[in-house]
Parts: sequence; C-alpha cells; structure tokens
Amino acid sequence: MRTSRRRREFLIATSAVAVQASLGAGCASRRTVVRGACHHDCADTCAWRTTVDDGRVVAFEGDPDHPFTRGRLCARMSGYPDDLVFSSHRLLYPQRRVGKKGEGRFERVSWDEALDDVARRLKAIVAEHGPTAVLPYSYAGTEGKIQGRALSDRFFVRLGASRLQRDICGSAAHSGLEAVLGTSTAMLPSDLAHSRLILVWGANPAVSNEHGWDFALEAKRQGARIVVVDPLRSRTVQDADQHVQPIPGTDAALALGLMQVIVAEGLHDADYVAKHTLGFDALRARLADFAPARVAAITGLAVEEIVALARAYATTRPAALRLMIGMEHHANGSSLYRALAGLPALVGAWRLRGGGLVEFSDAHFDGVLNRKAFDVGRQEDETIRSFNMVQLGQALTDKALAPPIHALFVYNSNPAAIAPNQNLVLRGLRREDLFTVVIEQQLTDSARHADYVFPATTQLEHLDLLTSWGHEYLSLNLPAIPPRGEARPNTEFFRGLAGRMGYTEPHLFETDEQMVKGLLDSRHPYLGGVTYDQLRERGWVRLAVPDPWLPFADGGFKTASGKCEFFSASLQAQGFDPLPGYVPPPPAGRYPLALLTTKSTRHFNNTSHAGEARPRRAEGEPRLQMHADDAAARGITDGDPVRVVNERGTMALRAAVKGGIRQGVVSLPQGYWPSLLPGGSSANALTPDGLSDRGGGGDFHDARVEVEKA
Ligand code: SF4
Repeated sequence: MRTSRRRREFLIATSAVAVQASLGAGCASRRTVVRGACHHDCADTCAWRTTVDDGRVVAFEGDPDHPFTRGRLCARMSGYPDDLVFSSHRLLYPQRRVGKKGEGRFERVSWDEALDDVARRLKAIVAEHGPTAVLPYSYAGTEGKIQGRALSDRFFVRLGASRLQRDICGSAAHSGLEAVLGTSTAMLPSDLAHSRLILVWGANPAVSNEHGWDFALEAKRQGARIVVVDPLRSRTVQDADQHVQPIPGTDAALALGLMQVIVAEGLHDADYVAKHTLGFDALRARLADFAPARVAAITGLAVEEIVALARAYATTRPAALRLMIGMEHHANGSSLYRALAGLPALVGAWRLRGGGLVEFSDAHFDGVLNRKAFDVGRQEDETIRSFNMVQLGQALTDKALAPPIHALFVYNSNPAAIAPNQNLVLRGLRREDLFTVVIEQQLTDSARHADYVFPATTQLEHLDLLTSWGHEYLSLNLPAIPPRGEARPNTEFFRGLAGRMGYTEPHLFETDEQMVKGLLDSRHPYLGGVTYDQLRERGWVRLAVPDPWLPFADGGFKTASGKCEFFSASLQAQGFDPLPGYVPPPPAGRYPLALLTTKSTRHFNNTSHAGEARPRRAEGEPRLQMHADDAAARGITDGDPVRVVNERGTMALRAAVKGGIRQGVVSLPQGYWPSLLPGGSSANALTPDGLSDRGGGGDFHDARVEVEKA
C-alpha cells in the first residue's frame, strides 16, 4: 500500500473498536487490524482490512480470505485513505454559506449553532408551507444499512416530508425481470465460472463489477466463449471472443429475434417450456413479427450475425446472460429486460449450474436481517406526494407546485452531477428561496449550493452493516480510526436534528450499534446463527444459500403462476402489453447522434473520488468517443476540441476518434464534477429526465446530440 508522508505524520488516537490485535508476544506495538467493507454503489462490496499502528493507518488492503473479492481492491479504492479519508479537501467542520449559491464561500460554525439554525428554519418552513415543502434527496453514496437511510427515513417520515422515489438505478431492470421471473435475483454471479457461453448484454463488468468478472474469466480459461452485446467497444470487449453492436435501444428486438430463430429452428427446450413456462403459444405468435430480416433492419446487425448468435446461445450448455444496469436507461428500458428475461427458459438454461441469467443478488437477503425494530417509523404515508429523483430539476423549478419545495436535504448523493438535465437541476439549486442542507465528505458541486454543509464521516470512521447486490455475503464495517475534525456519521446529524425539532420517539435516537445488533438478531437459517461479536471478528459471512444454487432448474419461479411468464395476465390487467415486445427509441429529431453516457471510469465511482487530484490525474480528462466516419463528416480528427450540444446543454471536451464505436453513436464517461470541467458542464448536461416505461428509471440513454468542432 502507498503510505503518504502526510498520512504517516497524521497521528490519531487508537480506535477503541479495533477487533483483531496482531501483536507478537511481548511486542509493545499497538497494531490492530480492523475489518471493513466497501460502501460504494458497486456490485462487489469488497471486504477489506485496515491496519492501524499507534493510531496511524499503516496499511489498507482487500481481505484475502473473502471468497468473492479475494483480497483485491479496485483502482478506485486501493488508495482510499490517501485519496479521500486524509484528503486536504475533506470537510472537517460545519459551514454556513456566506457567498452566492454555488459560489462555494462558507464560514465555519459549530455543530450546535448550525443544527439549531437548521431546526429553526425547518420549523418555520413547515409552519408556513407544510411539511411537504421539504424534500430529502439521497441515494447510494453509501450502501450501508445504517449510514444509508436508517435514521434519515425515520426522521423524514416523522416530519411528513415529501417522498423521494429512489429509482435512478436498477428499478426498470427489476420491473422487467420480475414480470417474467418474479424476481431479479437468479444465478449466483460466481456460477459464471461454470458457464460455457457468457452473453454480456449492455454491460461493462470488467470495469463495473471486476470481482464478479473474474469468475467469467475463469470460465474462459476453461474454454468458455464470451460474447458482448454493446454499441460501444467497452473494456469488457477486450476479454470477449465476439462483439455484437446493435443500435442503442433496440435490444428487445434483438432478444425477440434470437427467440424467433430458436423456436423456428426447433432449438428451444420443449420439455422445459411445457413444464415451467406460461404463454409459449402466444409468444410464438408474437415472434412471427421478429424474423431475422426485420430484426436486422431494426438493430443494424446482419441477418447472419443474428442467426448465428441464436444458434450458439441455444446449443451451448450451460449458457448465461450477464446483464447489469446501464441498459435500462431507455424509455423502453423495462420492456427490454422483460424480453431478455425469457431467453434462458426458452432454451432450458436454468437446468444447469452456470446457465440462466445474472443480474442482482438482493433477494438472497430478503428476510435474513431482523427488520422488525429497524423498520419502526420508516413506513411512508403513500398519500404524501412523491418526486422521482430522476426529475429533481423539474421538482425544484416547477412554479405550479403547491407548495413548492422550500427545503432540500441532500446526503449520500451529489445531484448537481449525477442527476440528468443538469442545467435545470443547477437552476433549481441556485434558487435563493430554497433552503439547502448537504451532509458530505467533500465540497461537491451540490454542497457548493448549500446553505449549510455538515461534515460526514468516511467508511473508515463509522460503523455499518452491508448487504450486497452482487454476491451473497453480509459484511460488517467497523470504524478503524476516530472521525477526522468534527465529522460525524449521518445518523448523528439526524439524531441531533430530531432532538431540536422536539421529537421524542425513541426510534429516532437509537445508536448505530443498537441498530446493527437489532438487524443481526435473526434466526434466519441463511445467517447460520452468526452473532454481532462473531461478525466483528470475521468481518463477513456467506449466507447459507444452497450449494449448488439452481433456482429454477425445476421451475419454481417467483411469479404468481410459479412459471416463467412469457405472457403476463397481471401486466395485461394493468394495461400493459401482456407479451414481451419492442417499442422503438424516440426519433432522432434535430440531433442526429445517439449519446451513451457510461459508467466507465476506473478511478471514480459515480462522482465519488472525482474531486481529488490523484484519481483525476489517473483518469485523465473525459473524451468524446466518435466513429471515424461521423468525425470525418464534421471535419473532426482525433484530439480536436469539440462541443457536444443538444436542447438541454453543451459540453466542451476533446474527441477520441477510434474504431470500435458504432457509427451514429457517441459516448461520454459520467462521474466528472461539472465545476471541474471547462464550461462547467458534465455528461448529464445533455441527458434527458424522462422516465422508463415501467419501474420509474431514467431515459438518459435516449439522449441525442450534435457534435461541432470547437
Ligand atoms: S468500488 Fe466496488 S470493486 Fe472497488 S473496492 Fe468498492 S466494492 Fe470493490
């Protein structure tokens, strides 16, 4: 591990909670190894160990004993102590705005003074406009159960604030998969090691799920074939045997086209289909609309490519689909996952280990933790209005809202950078009549717009419990060092504010340890009786998911019928198409190029780390990927400064004219902070803030742009 002089010289008191002394007999050192786990919005939830010696962090490394993450931290996190925890940019004290909104000028205040004033302002807003004039805004800045939403949910429910639909990521995919399978948790990601064909569809797991991807590479070493379906030449394509590049947003047509070939050629598993699926005859009739020639015209692929892929998928056993999330961000995002979800049942892929589909792993944790006490006070009143987080800009600027939003509380998120339609979001955040409170570790673009900024602890400084959406391990994160400066856990902010609001309900004041112990007070067989103290020593536990895990080998889907539902009576009753179908992406209009904004940075996780010099240097400046013909048509050559424009905004950067991207498509990496880029705009200045067909996800990837030489 790299140990900077600054950090070596930073003396801190030895943590009282370090759990595993690694002292030799008679050794005078107070060296301790503290277990923890990564909090990022990432499928891998890596386990780590922090070594603290006489109060100094002297080593930070992945836990080599963890069977899934196997001792390796990614490039984002291997330098976490230097990059973030001991960064000179850390917010260490509460601050009050003294400049204009967004200017980033603040003065230091005490926690008491700041909390007193926030409570006073909040009471005044509630008295004048009612509690729904208050909006919380948070997402997966930490995925920990405690610092995520444990007390904030209780606080805002108690207040009666407007509700936030946290649907920016995963919800459209969930809804599409659940329509067919009844769940979005299927194969174990580690079972990709048993696959013989891995079809990575609209995902870049070599970057966004690199520990999970190791299992696919294991399969490849054993002779498996990897095919990537993606309009872009992602990093994952380098590991693949074949790259299929459909037009963005046409994936459902491609999935239905594969099904058409499989059924027409009799390559489907008739026995599995008869026993474990519902609506095959109706599906077969629908597939008549998706003959290869039509699908080729829709997707921009060759007929031969479609037919060959269908045959390979149907005849290679076991075959797995590796989906992730980015592909859902189309107006037809939910339908697209629904079309893909039927493929494994059609070919009987669920019969074998290594066959089926990998998406989330959340459902393994259902019922495992004891949420009885944890959920007290967290049930939202569904009669209270709600706002989809994808549409924050609209919510903050809608003059017809009654009441308008007068107070915004931002924590575990950076909407100025991550929300679509960025210029509208910034316009809302700059409203002088909007009282904004941000809890943060750094002065993000969102924090720059705050009236008060409160310093938050990092994952090395607080207690938390983490499930995972990318594997079946439960992790405990112990604080390795005391909080720097006056940083406090998010929970402490909400306890402090609840007291000042005059609330007295005990559930608003539970300690972090009480909440963790309460969650672990469970007799669920998957937990194997593990106790809090055992978890403090071990750091993580694998849920006792049956081994081998063959969730649908004999049917048993989680749908109402217990079958894989090609035909959904439930969706039909709700007015949706009962069969998987294809809805074309919105027409190009004035802007001819499709823009894909990708989670492809290796040194940022969403916008985390993007405010720090080392990760920014390592990542380099963002580049616009363009096809050579699209660039030539505009007089652009590799490295030229360009402007990417549409009706929502402009972004200034340089072009990367490379082979690999599909003609008619350009792409930009997301994650950069707008204020640190020339022109003050990042990728989300160009993305739309519409919603997907079901599930409430965004339609970012339906963005259309023009590119001009600057
Ligand atoms: S960001 Fe993801 S891959 Fe990196 S350390 Fe965290 S959980 Fe692991």
